[in-house]
Amino acid sequence: MKKIFKLGIICVLLSVLLFGLLKIQTALFEANNTPPPVHTRQNNNLTDWNLILVNQHHPIPNDYHVELINLSNGQQVDTRIYPSLQQMFDDARTQGVYPVVLSGYRTENEQMQIMQTQIEFHEAEGNSKAEAIKLAKAWVAIPGTSEHQLGLAVDIEADNINSTNEQVYEWLKQNAHEYGFILRYPMDKIDITGINYEPWHYRYVGIDTAQEIYSQGICLEEYLSMHLSQ
Ligand SMILES: [Zn+2]
Repeated sequence: MKKIFKLGIICVLLSVLLFGLLKIQTALFEANNTPPPVHTRQNNNLTDWNLILVNQHHPIPNDYHVELINLSNGQQVDTRIYPSLQQMFDDARTQGVYPVVLSGYRTENEQMQIMQTQIEFHEAEGNSKAEAIKLAKAWVAIPGTSEHQLGLAVDIEADNINSTNEQVYEWLKQNAHEYGFILRYPMDKIDITGINYEPWHYRYVGIDTAQEIYSQGICLEEYLSMHLSQ
């Protein structure tokens, strides 16, 4: 009788052990076959070329390389945004709005000269040097932190023959996201972007991102931190 009891206990222990081993194996199998969590894939997307973040806290990487294409008026942009930019301008024109690219790609030197001109302008208005620099920084990105140096941003104005700037700004505000461009410095995001409202400055981010940023009323900084924390 004792023997049978002992055998029973051994059987139960073996069963528990076997069951445990099976569980571990199943867990391992599941771990190997579970797709990566969604946020991992989104994080990878955040490193896409069109989502690079450049602002006062994120300077352009030293090894950044840009392939440029010339526009008909001599301005240049990153070749990858050209088809979308062209399509946007073509469609605007068919709707009676005539935009032009006032400023596309800029070298660090050109950005430095723009900053210098702005500082001199504010000094000439009677501001101290420190005050003039502060005022200039609200409008002009510090060299090394301008999206124009990426070739992914364009300042767009009207041709001033067939359209006014206001007409162009309004059309862009309503439509640019359909082509992958965002109003980069909205009026209500100055405290985040660090740059004053610029209705002419559009940045290419790709259609999906542009549509999300547009529909949610957020800026690029907010979009990136939202997706990073997901
Ligand atoms: Zn600009």
